[in-house]
Amino acid sequence: MEKNYRAELVGCFGDPVDGNPTGVMEEAGFAHDGLNWRYITVRVLKDDLDDAMAGVRAFNMRGVNLTMPHKINVLRHMDELSEAARVIGAVNTVVCREDGTLFGENTDGKGFVQSLRDAGIPLADRSICILGAGGAARSIGVECALAGAASIAVINRNTRRGEALAEVIRQNTKADARFIPWDGPARVPEGTDIVINATCVGLHPHGDECPNVDFDSIQPGMVACDVIFNPVDTPFLTRAAARGARTIDGLGMLVNQGAINYTLWTGRTAPRDVMYAKLREEFGL
Ligand code: NDP
Repeated sequence: MEKNYRAELVGCFGDPVDGNPTGVMEEAGFAHDGLNWRYITVRVLKDDLDDAMAGVRAFNMRGVNLTMPHKINVLRHMDELSEAARVIGAVNTVVCREDGTLFGENTDGKGFVQSLRDAGIPLADRSICILGAGGAARSIGVECALAGAASIAVINRNTRRGEALAEVIRQNTKADARFIPWDGPARVPEGTDIVINATCVGLHPHGDECPNVDFDSIQPGMVACDVIFNPVDTPFLTRAAARGARTIDGLGMLVNQGAINYTLWTGRTAPRDVMYAKLREEFGL
């Protein structure tokens, strides 16, 4: 058989992106499956996205992840969007199809929902409280609603973004959604089952920071989740646990969205356990 030295390419474009560990996780999966695929982590500045997307075509890449600040700007390069990506209004995963067209999907919220499923936490008929209304919050809010959550309270500093997320959920899903302005310590509404920190507060190198939450409003029996995965143990989760909440860290969301992307690109079931183990090793867990 003729040898083939050419690797299939996927990767991630973002800025900042140096601290993004997705590549080691995806490449652990490729190695496990004996695939000659590479995941390249590339610093792409805000104004260079068009050139970078031309590169995706020129290099015949199989797909790419987008992170800050490209998730919305990349929309103009897509030939087709998934329903979720259209509703969320952002793409974190591009699939380059054989016919040369680009398909945009958003797997952040799907990864989050799967991490709750893995922990045996149902979403159907639950009351959710989301702190934040940025890209991650939008994805999580829409997917939780599509997964059957009954109500979603969005707490955010910026009113326009907060109201827009509540409106998107109301317009596109069966869930009831409302916006609560974030002025002063945020109170988690009574009756909340699952509260999620979907802000970037606590992200490395500011790992000692905690969102301004009135922790007395977090009750035993609630589930508290964080999207931050670096550090894995955030002050938000530590303080919520001290109130008796069950906690879910951001690593499960990360590995699950990575596993979904793996399948979208390769067409194979992702070796999720291998990818998760690699990620835990990377974080010294
Ligand atoms: P965005 O910039 O789109 O949104 C940031 C959000 O945080 C906004 O709602 C913003 O509020 C809020 N915020 C920022 N600072 C504060 C503050 N001091 N107090 C209260 N709210 C604040 O970022 P993303 O949504 O893309 O990312 C958010 C986090 O999610 C990042 O840390 C990212 O690493 C993480 N993430 C994790 C993933 C995983 O797999 N675990 C996947 C994707 C993202 P306002 O609108 O008022 O400015």
